[in-house]
Amino acid sequence: MNPNPTDAPRPNADAAVVSRPLVQKGKGRARRPDLDTLMSVNADGSRNAIHPADCSGRFQDRKHGLWYLLIGIYLAMPWVEIGGKPAILIDIQRRHFYLLGQTFNAQDFWLAFFFISGLGFTLFVVAALWGRLWCGYACPQTVFLEGVFRRIERWIEGNAASRARLDAAPMTAQKALRRGLKLFVFFAISLLITHSLLGYFMPVREVCDAMRHSPGEHLTAFVFVSVLTAIVFVNFTWFREQTCIVVCPYGRLQGALYDPDTKIVGYDKRRGEPRGPAGTEGAGDCIDCFRCVSVCPTGIDIRNGTQMECVGCANCIDACDDVMTKLGKPIGLVRYDTQRGFETGQRRFWRPRVFVYAFLFLLGCFVFGRSITRRVPFEANVIRPPGAAFVVEDGRVRNLIQLHVVNKLPTRAAFTVSGSAAGGEVTIAQQELQIDSLQDQRIPVVVSIPAEAFRAGAEVVFEVTARPEGDPADGAAAITVETRAPLLGPSNRRR
Ligand code: SF4
Ligand code: SF4
Repeated sequence: MNPNPTDAPRPNADAAVVSRPLVQKGKGRARRPDLDTLMSVNADGSRNAIHPADCSGRFQDRKHGLWYLLIGIYLAMPWVEIGGKPAILIDIQRRHFYLLGQTFNAQDFWLAFFFISGLGFTLFVVAALWGRLWCGYACPQTVFLEGVFRRIERWIEGNAASRARLDAAPMTAQKALRRGLKLFVFFAISLLITHSLLGYFMPVREVCDAMRHSPGEHLTAFVFVSVLTAIVFVNFTWFREQTCIVVCPYGRLQGALYDPDTKIVGYDKRRGEPRGPAGTEGAGDCIDCFRCVSVCPTGIDIRNGTQMECVGCANCIDACDDVMTKLGKPIGLVRYDTQRGFETGQRRFWRPRVFVYAFLFLLGCFVFGRSITRRVPFEANVIRPPGAAFVVEDGRVRNLIQLHVVNKLPTRAAFTVSGSAAGGEVTIAQQELQIDSLQDQRIPVVVSIPAEAFRAGAEVVFEVTARPEGDPADGAAAITVETRAPLLGPSNRRR
């Protein structure tokens, strides 16, 4: 439907859209991006749709390659298995979690703290060093908006100038057809995104099965997908860059994470000013062509300085480099540099805050890695059932307890249990048992000690050995843990 389906810059089309973000909808007067207002919102509070022009260049090439890799990983990951288990699955309903070949249950949830804080500090380090690299290149909001939805919009409604004209035009059959087709495709993609996301929380084969049955049979999943699809659809159809500008907490944190040595996208005022048409006597390198503004997805003018709305997408760098190349001037009037670099030409990479963030990041990685590697892949805990803690009978003190064994291995395993108590007898209801992966079993145990031999501090010691399914006869992969519990008696009552 689009007559110009490629991304290559087209001078005429680009010239037409240069002024597009500068026109305030419905007012008929020019509006230049400034530091006091959001281009996403008109003075009367209505939405001002931003239609960034297309551009090409080295950063676009890198971004596009990365985006399609990330989208491929996102869609494929729920289908990937490692050792017969999902590569990533957060099965909240069954409280089973799988991460790259490791299996976890609810008792391992504390590890999530180190995992999430590690990710957080990774972003802190990245932001302190390279500004909004995450936002411009890897955030799902950017990846899907720019890599999928905006592209489809372009195919259906044309380039930025055509989209702006269509926006302003009265509703006709052709406009209704294009808008209807676009919304239909957007909705279908929103459904695909949310069903893929569901595959991270529910085994993907169950997702496929649920899709073939009535919503009532999987009501929770149905509500989850419905609400999320609505959010995704509205976000990518209408809300768009406002998510980055007014919703995202990471974007709000940037001011605290930046310093004058953080790499940002910026404009070299020393080189560009005073701006003016090419060939003007005494003018800087900026010819005030507005190309950097027309490609900006948040509608700002980077020449006004670093702004909260800048998501670091580097569109303006590619656009300006293209202009400079055509003028036969060096590229880099708009470029990645630090505030100090733009102002003085000096740059500093290592600063105290980078060390602090990097230290916290490495500490989180160390604790998480150590916790994972030292984690015993099964649990054996002593539980006291409700009721009498012990009985004294026929001159013996008897403790009635349960041994709770949880198999956290990724496979079914055979368990052997033995127990001992100084001067007493330990009777275990089941000494050999098989437990499926991430399942548990409680084994009743009676510990009996002659009353005259019982003393405070007496304890029972269990030795539990697990052999994963497929372990050779010599038990090469067998794992043994020891667990102890105090015994209760007349001189040692539980309070
Ligand atoms: S694209 Fe470059 S030359 Fe054109 S207005 Fe922006 S900074 Fe100036
Ligand atoms: S100013 Fe440049 S880097 Fe920032 S959002 Fe706009 S186009 Fe992207």
